[in-house]
Amino acid sequence: MRNVTLLGATGSIGTSTLDVLRRHKDEFKLHAVAASSSVDKMVAIVQEFKPERVAMHNEKSAQELNQKLKDLGLYAEVLAGACGVEEVAGDGAADVVVGAIVGAAGLKPVIAAVKTGCVIALANKEALVMSGQIFFEAVKKYGAKVLPVDSEHSAIFQCLPYEAQINLGYCDLKQANVNKILLTGSGGPFRDSPLESLKTVTAAQAIAHPVWSMGPKISVDSATMMNKGLEFIEARYLFNATDDDIKVVIHPQSVIHSMVSFTDGAILAQLGQPDMRTPIAVALGFPQRLTSGVDMLDFEKLSELTFRSPDFVRYPCLKLAMQASKSGQGATTCLNAANEVAVDAFLHNQIAYLDIAKVVDGVLQKANVGSLSSIDEVLETDRKAREIAKSIVGAI
Ligand code: NAD
Ligand code: MG
Repeated sequence: MRNVTLLGATGSIGTSTLDVLRRHKDEFKLHAVAASSSVDKMVAIVQEFKPERVAMHNEKSAQELNQKLKDLGLYAEVLAGACGVEEVAGDGAADVVVGAIVGAAGLKPVIAAVKTGCVIALANKEALVMSGQIFFEAVKKYGAKVLPVDSEHSAIFQCLPYEAQINLGYCDLKQANVNKILLTGSGGPFRDSPLESLKTVTAAQAIAHPVWSMGPKISVDSATMMNKGLEFIEARYLFNATDDDIKVVIHPQSVIHSMVSFTDGAILAQLGQPDMRTPIAVALGFPQRLTSGVDMLDFEKLSELTFRSPDFVRYPCLKLAMQASKSGQGATTCLNAANEVAVDAFLHNQIAYLDIAKVVDGVLQKANVGSLSSIDEVLETDRKAREIAKSIVGAI
């Protein structure tokens, strides 16, 4: 029996993770869960999975949850605020911590989990984008193990040899005879829209991803391909890769989830339905395979698999992310912070779709993007970048 703590339990990844756990109740026990403010979803989780500890980032929601659990005769220790979330993440009782909080908010809880030396099943790519090097130094120091949940990184992971799989963050791609990591992305809902029409894109249109069903922030990131940019940076840290080791390929059907080419000319790809329960099951079960509830691909129903290069005029955010990746951790932290502020402003109709890239570019030009050597420095850089981003948003 393995104890699991699920951070971001009420979100899209959280819900898919619970569905995998539901199928394996004899193998996994849900020890603790954390989320922001969805009280009713949390009540349902406590009812079904009976975790010992529950943290709500929103203090009012924590109080409300406590009351509702009492009324229903259910028991779980309820913690509140950012400290409560960090406490359940780092209490040391979990064998596996699933990091599925969205955005920079997930960084401190994930680091708290790393310090317990457990297995980290990581969906929260923003945490790596902000802190990659410091994160993996902590992984080494505390003997933690990282397994990717992001579908592309899970695909790459599955294509790599075992020695690389058990050494994420430090693996030697040359020794594994890797030629390139081929990071695929669907290109989002506006892949084929006339460029002119992007000026008037609404939040509802941006959230309606053609293939994947995801939370609102990552859905907008998929439309701008900032998501692929963040994943580019994520891949660099996870697979100890250089910028030149990774190539982004647009693959509209999202059947291939990414590929690895080797020096002998062989290319391995991982294929499957666009359903996050597969990469979640891979991370929870590794090195075993678990059933996940995902249907098999039906090759007779697949009409075509196509590929093309990303166009940086259509996807300026991808270019900005790749440039930030070259500059280093200060730049990637600023990029991420600026993007979170810009996407939030776009979702609240404060700026237009095309302004997202302008805000990110503006922050990268104005911010001081030196190297960072501690989580406190990362968080301070994140805070300053948000301030700059908010002032740019305010002036639009
Ligand atoms: P979501 O918005 O659906 O869910 C986010 C979760 O985080 C919710 O449970 C929310 O309550 C919780 N949360 C937010 N702020 C919090 C805080 N301060 N403290 C505690 N909990 C907090 O997002 P999602 O789509 O599930 O994405 C989660 C993460 O996984 C993101 O980093 C995303 O990039 C990554 N990811 C998602 C997918 C996907 O298919 N959804 C795929 C790959 C990677
Ligand atoms: Mg992904």
